[in-house]
Amino acid sequence: MALCIVTGGAGFIGSHLARRLIERGDEIFVLDDLSTGFQRNVPEGAVFYQVDVGSINDLLALKFPDKIDTIYHLAGQSSGEASFDDPLGDIKSNYIATYNILKLAEMKHCQRFIFTSSMSVYGEIGNGFIPVHEMHECNPQSYYGCNKLASEKLINVFIKKTGIRPTIFRLFNVYGPGQNMNNLKQGMVSIYMSYLMKDVPILVKGSLDRFRDFIYVDDVVDGLIRSEPCEKTFGEVFNIGTGQSTTVLEVLQTLLKIYQKDDFDRWIVVEGNTPGDLKGFSADISKLKAAIEWKPRYDIERGIAEMKAWIDQTMDLWQD
Ligand code: NAD
Repeated sequence: MALCIVTGGAGFIGSHLARRLIERGDEIFVLDDLSTGFQRNVPEGAVFYQVDVGSINDLLALKFPDKIDTIYHLAGQSSGEASFDDPLGDIKSNYIATYNILKLAEMKHCQRFIFTSSMSVYGEIGNGFIPVHEMHECNPQSYYGCNKLASEKLINVFIKKTGIRPTIFRLFNVYGPGQNMNNLKQGMVSIYMSYLMKDVPILVKGSLDRFRDFIYVDDVVDGLIRSEPCEKTFGEVFNIGTGQSTTVLEVLQTLLKIYQKDDFDRWIVVEGNTPGDLKGFSADISKLKAAIEWKPRYDIERGIAEMKAWIDQTMDLWQD
């Protein structure tokens, strides 16, 4: 049994991770300010602290055992688009928070530090470099991407003076049950599904030929958990996606098929664009596959079908 902290454990990915850790018998502390997460997502058995991890005083006032085995740091403002509305807020909840959590890790003699960065660190990538490899240069196009990249660099500097072994994951487009269906600024699949959930046409901000690498949440959590004990991942940066490019058009067609709506022009409205949005992206995942025994198990159709089943069961949570 390990003693772990999961920051952002009331959020989408963090709550799946927290649940898996509890299920395998770990003792966990969830830290979350509930800015986009929900307390109902925190699994039974976890100790929950509602705290802004961007505030060092609030963080260090919390009570923990003297030694923590692993910190999974997922908390932070999670939308590239929203980072343009509040750049300073993004610096606090992404960059400063990472420093604060590293400080906590040092004080609690923590051995492992697992951080969720983002594909947004790369910025716009030329077609010849897709799927993008971890060695590709980073040139983020949003405040969010800048703060994720700065956090990665900070981790590398900070751990030099400690015994902490970090692993950094650059997540691609994660989707699945547990997403905040009322958040229209984060998650392409969940945003589109939130329209269908209300039985109104999907507003698509940007062209249909944009493409992404959509990965189901269980596959991401699987990668994080499998990497934790694996020495080959210590001190490394990994992409975590499926390696497949899927266009926005393909996602929309899959959604309409699963929702049994055949009139594309009636259900899809294309208008405007999103600040800092990127044309196309997919992940080279060969490095992660070589380091740990892992491969994504869900394709987009299966993942969306699972997500629809979850939305249908939780409709009452999403009434405005
Ligand atoms: P999410 O918004 O559901 O989860 C983030 C959680 O952090 C929320 O519960 C929120 O309340 C909490 N939080 C935000 N600021 C905080 C603060 N200052 N103090 C304490 N808690 C705070 O988003 P998610 O999709 O679960 O993302 C989890 C992590 O993965 C984030 O770091 C995000 O940047 C990263 N990521 C996600 C995706 C994706 O497609 N979902 C892609 C790339 C990277």
